[in-house]
Amino acid sequence: MSKQALLEVRGLTKHFPVGGLFKRQHVHALNEATFSIDQGEVVSLVGESGSGKSTTARLIARLVPATAGEIIFDGADVLKTEPRGASKQYRSEVQMIFQDPFGSLNGSHTIGHHLERPLRIHNMATNDNIEQRVHELLELVGLTPAADVASKFPYELSGGQRQRVAIARALAVEPRIILADEPISMLDVSIRAGVLNLMEKLKEERGIGFLYITHDLASARYIGDRTIVMYAGHMVESADSSELMEEPAHPYTRLLKTAVPNPQAGLATREVQARGEVPSLTEPPPGCPFAARCPEVMDVCRQVMPERTTIGLDHWVRCHLYEEQ
Ligand code: SF4
Repeated sequence: MSKQALLEVRGLTKHFPVGGLFKRQHVHALNEATFSIDQGEVVSLVGESGSGKSTTARLIARLVPATAGEIIFDGADVLKTEPRGASKQYRSEVQMIFQDPFGSLNGSHTIGHHLERPLRIHNMATNDNIEQRVHELLELVGLTPAADVASKFPYELSGGQRQRVAIARALAVEPRIILADEPISMLDVSIRAGVLNLMEKLKEERGIGFLYITHDLASARYIGDRTIVMYAGHMVESADSSELMEEPAHPYTRLLKTAVPNPQAGLATREVQARGEVPSLTEPPPGCPFAARCPEVMDVCRQVMPERTTIGLDHWVRCHLYEEQ
């Protein structure tokens, strides 16, 4: 399948206002994020809590308004063409799935009800074929026998099965992009690969583009064609996922790699261990956001924010170590 850019994000920025009338501040949650997702491509976004990963997804899903930047979908900047909020069509073509599959399902409704709702709202089925469409969706995500699963309530399913229902619900409206915000982090390690393999199948068979958000490099590499590393609201490195894992350039990416024990550990990871503090997001330092924790910090790092430096084919990094070379 020939690839074609589906979604392009340029300079996307979100500063959340905090505090009262007398001490107004802004949390710099995301700063000038720029990247794209092609048709049938999985882009992994990896970083610790507070790095801006989820904010990126929520901005693209139009759940929160952007402070600045562009979200180009089908050749148009939707922040300009749909300034008051996402159109029904954008909301069906760009779907989001969340970390907690139980929290995103209403416990008093059956699985069938959860899948019928988007089909009706987006006119994707008629009364005559809606039951058949529900069963097709359940079969597509590997939940069989479909009629049996459709009659169950969320509490009757396992965490992995509930996340498959959440994916089926997203698929009901035939999206072209799925924003998956830590979809496996609350699942048992043993069933994580099953959900990632389902995403892989949907990418291959349907050409869906995924933004896969995670805090660990192991799963980012497992599913992602490309991986972007985020730190304190900034994108700091991007490369082909295998290259990033084998030759991480940014000191923070190297640190993340130490949390992946070994290839045999599959999708299990350790906590990231680092000295120093994550910088304030309300009063961010002028230089590199990683300076307080970086073992290779130089004087310039504390004063000047590094620019993107290309260091390989589709591989860039924001770090003064590479600018000097
Ligand atoms: Fe470390 Fe400096 Fe590179 Fe930042 S710019 S990651 S502080 S070497």
